[in-house]
Amino acid sequence: MHFSFSDWLPEAPLQRLHLDWLTTAGIEVAILRLDQIDPLISGNKWFKLIEHLNIAAQSGAKGIISLGGAHSNHLHALAAAGQRFGFCTVGLLRGHPQETPTVRDLQAFGMQLHWLGYGGYRARHAADFWVPWKARYPDLQPVPEGGGGLPGARGCMQLKAQVCKQLSALGWSDYDGWWLACGTGTTLAGLVLAEAGEHQVYGALAVPDDHGVRQQVEVILEEAGFTEPAYELLDASRGGFAKVDPSLLEFITQTEQACAIPLEPLYTGKALLVLRQQVEAGTFKKGARLIFVHTGGLQGRRGFQ
Ligand SMILES: *Cc1c(COP(=O)(O)O)cnc(C)c1O
Repeated sequence: MHFSFSDWLPEAPLQRLHLDWLTTAGIEVAILRLDQIDPLISGNKWFKLIEHLNIAAQSGAKGIISLGGAHSNHLHALAAAGQRFGFCTVGLLRGHPQETPTVRDLQAFGMQLHWLGYGGYRARHAADFWVPWKARYPDLQPVPEGGGGLPGARGCMQLKAQVCKQLSALGWSDYDGWWLACGTGTTLAGLVLAEAGEHQVYGALAVPDDHGVRQQVEVILEEAGFTEPAYELLDASRGGFAKVDPSLLEFITQTEQACAIPLEPLYTGKALLVLRQQVEAGTFKKGARLIFVHTGGLQGRRGFQ
């Protein structure tokens, strides 16, 4: 890999979000559109990949091997980046071979796929999991699920600068906090590091509490030598990851009609719905200004329609 991945720094637009429940409560929200950075390489997954790709390039790797499910936004961004920038990609998939819009894209982008079954995928955290894959693909750099860990978080730190650069165009001099969906908590950890206590970061958990998001965030912050816990996690999972119910879908439809911003039900829809609940419960003072991160994921939504 010879490309310097900091040469391509896509900028996410920051836009005012107008919704009646925000207006009623006197809360202002600006939405950072990570879904709009690129037609193919979308969402927070690109920012999570940058440092992993730089590490791979520095170590002389020829490409990346990583893992995910049959709708994975992470594998999708990785495969698209591999095709665009000319490095090899191998994807280890959860479950048994199936055709989804995502899987078809991965193949079209030239990613080599291996299906691990469910048991095989569950073993991904075992100490010896990577041994056979490193033997089979010695030139490829392994990247953890979702592009996680401290390198993943470091890549997300630049989101703060992207927001600060665009504040004055909205007529804002400052903001009070961030609001975003969390899966592994890596993106949130990046924002907590970038803020260094300056602004609060609220994470809406798309996975149930027993997934250990708080522990994963703590591990990243500790590794970075940061101890001040300037963040808060709220449950947004609605009974489980990828569990979708009619009132969630209705909220997404209403929101899309009201503001013309596309959402998906696993992360961004759930995160915005919990924000509404908190706004209506009076969690924020009138006049509060929040940055809602649109983390992307719209390609994965094709599998649910
Ligand atoms: C992966 C993903 C997330 C979760 O990001 P983490 O860094 O794992 O917390 C949130 N939203 C979307 C759309 C995603 O694809």
